[in-house]
Amino acid sequence: MRLVLLGAPGAGKGTQAGVLARRYDVPHISTGDMLREHGQLGTPLGRKTARFMQSGHLVPDDLVLEMVEERLARADARRGFVCDGFPRTLPQAESFAQRLASRGLALDGVVLLEVPFQALIRRLCLRRVCPGCGAVYHLEDRPPRQVGRCDADGSVLLHREDDREEVIRERLEVYHQQTAPLVEFYEEAGLLLRVDSARPVELIRADLYEILDPLSERSGDTR
Ligand code: AMP
Repeated sequence: MRLVLLGAPGAGKGTQAGVLARRYDVPHISTGDMLREHGQLGTPLGRKTARFMQSGHLVPDDLVLEMVEERLARADARRGFVCDGFPRTLPQAESFAQRLASRGLALDGVVLLEVPFQALIRRLCLRRVCPGCGAVYHLEDRPPRQVGRCDADGSVLLHREDDREEVIRERLEVYHQQTAPLVEFYEEAGLLLRVDSARPVELIRADLYEILDPLSERSGDTR
């Protein structure tokens, strides 16, 4: 199964990508998580990308493409993947399509998680994430059982640096300018699957299974 989850920051890509990766037994490839890990480890890539991430701007395409290429070359990605936060620009999408085509592969689908603008701001401001397992909480709609701690592994929950209102507005603007054109790109390629994501997580998940399970049955190869 080769899937891309597309949508604005706060649309629920990370949450749903994790669930789908487990269901279809493929790796969840989140370029945001990978870049944050480089930042925490202080790698050369982490040092080069920090300022873009802190200000809510995109990391240059060449850096992201090289990082993704390394990740896709690992054995577990031969079965497929669920990409979350990648591709995010037209050059990334074109390069990704070429990479797959050169191996005789293609995406099975691109899911667009649609959420109205105002709802995104509220979601992101109140979002808290677990640095251990990646679980995502919302202080009002989905609070952890114990204040500030992950239900699954007890880690102290983080308020991401870029989940503050000024940076959120910048990220949404960047999405509108640089990532939204991918909707048309994938629509023209006949791959786009729209899902109304301004609803409870469980309803969105049920829709995703209904749409994607048949695709997964068709995409049985392990190259
Ligand atoms: P995310 O966790 O997906 O919201 O990503 C957090 C930040 O990482 C973004 O605001 C960008 O600075 C950077 N980033 C993640 N994925 C990409 C990508 N595909 N292209 C460029 N920058 C990215």
